[in-house]
Amino acid sequence: MDKKNVTGLVLASVCYFLLAKFGMLMFAIQPSNITLLWLPSGISLIMCLQWGVRSFPFIVAASFLANYAGMHTQEAGSYVYLLVAACIDGFSGVLSATLLKRFLPNGLVKTQHLFPFVAWVCLASPLITSLMLTANLLIGHYISLADAPGFVGMLILADSLGILLVYPVYAAMQVSSEPMTMIQKKWLTGAAIVLPVLLFFSTLGPDWLTFFMLPTLVILSFSVGIFWTVLMSSLSMVLTVAGTAQKLGPFVGASDQESRFGLMAFAFSSALTILGIALQNRQLKMAEFGQERWKSEAETDVMTGLFNRRAFFPLLNRMHQQAIVSQSTYAVAVIDLDNFKQINDRFGHAVGDEVLVSLAHVLVHHCRAGDIAARLGGDEFAMLIPLGSGKDALSLLQRVRSEILETKAVVGVNDEVAFDVSIGVALFESAAESENDLLRRADKALYKAKTTGRGRVVLADAYQ
Ligand code: GH3
Ligand code: MG
Repeated sequence: MDKKNVTGLVLASVCYFLLAKFGMLMFAIQPSNITLLWLPSGISLIMCLQWGVRSFPFIVAASFLANYAGMHTQEAGSYVYLLVAACIDGFSGVLSATLLKRFLPNGLVKTQHLFPFVAWVCLASPLITSLMLTANLLIGHYISLADAPGFVGMLILADSLGILLVYPVYAAMQVSSEPMTMIQKKWLTGAAIVLPVLLFFSTLGPDWLTFFMLPTLVILSFSVGIFWTVLMSSLSMVLTVAGTAQKLGPFVGASDQESRFGLMAFAFSSALTILGIALQNRQLKMAEFGQERWKSEAETDVMTGLFNRRAFFPLLNRMHQQAIVSQSTYAVAVIDLDNFKQINDRFGHAVGDEVLVSLAHVLVHHCRAGDIAARLGGDEFAMLIPLGSGKDALSLLQRVRSEILETKAVVGVNDEVAFDVSIGVALFESAAESENDLLRRADKALYKAKTTGRGRVVLADAYQ
């Protein structure tokens, strides 16, 4: 094992120990190491996912130290029970990680994963280890036989809640997330204020305020990514458990049993609901993103990155309509490489491709806000240029051509190939002319440029 892994394991073990102690401090039940909130079950799962069975001795050591105060007695055998309990805790991590990998090889990333996650990882694994732990406590005379069934139930809940509050935060960290926008930061700050305020005021009397944490978390899940949602949800649930441990909030019932099960049911179902919504929102966002990407790929010319022919015509139509509505004007330019076949023949197709990309760069370079450059196909390109005050399409296209003449495509190590274009340009002058007729006029001007010597910009005849 390298140094980095050992450091990671040691840090995780320290975290395990501290969270175990935190649980015991908050909600110790007799024997005093038994707590309603066993967050270490989530940590041990993560350790086993990250480092495999190598984590086992580390978990055993951390559990042994954490349980020492609660389980060590004057009786000679107490060390044995302590060690057995620690080994069961280590086994719990290995078992839940094995079940997770078996049933969810890609982790918890979809809403459909929620059921197998809850059934196998949050319930089946804690059920097995809780039975083992209770048997150990029973044999060691820490609890009586009459207490045993209640203990099994409580240990299952404590373990499953630990997994449910910790693992999704880790799983959400694994999925790549984009940097937060300003508005997302505001939502997060808002939730970070509202949630503690609700909890605080609920302790002053109106304990029903606790339940308003749920809609707050739901709203948050629609605004920020899954990581922050599940983190805030888990922290809220931990604070609710801590509050109940201090006899505050709505879960302080007539009997301890009642209050514990009410609390656990609330924390478990809330965390699960928020997790489900956050997963669903993430799926929706990904589907939206996929659709957008698909659309943009369908509208982009792969080689040059410009709009392709399919995208060009709706853009032309839109610019035409806008010009009619706003009584403004625009230019359509059709740009075609001169003698491109010769370049291909002399230098090869790859150099030809490079020429096409270089030409596209020049066009993009000259595009200002609102201008559009597209590759219509082969060596034919087009530009749509809205003409505001003083903007002269002809001189702009002359400048485009000048830059094209200065641009060279690289051939081999030292050689360069120059290229030139012919450009036909037509100006929108009358709403009576359709955009397709305008494009035809630009094409005609291009033809004129080609037939009168190439390497020139020709303005189309005025619309009649
Ligand atoms: P003209 O000056 O009259 O335009 O002559 P030209 O040789 O450029 O003739 P034309 O525009 O008709 O020829 C276009 C050529 O572009 C034909 C085809 O081999 C080549 N071509 C089309 N698409 C690609 C491409 O993606 N890569 C390369 N390298 N060549 C292409
Ligand atoms: Mg050509």
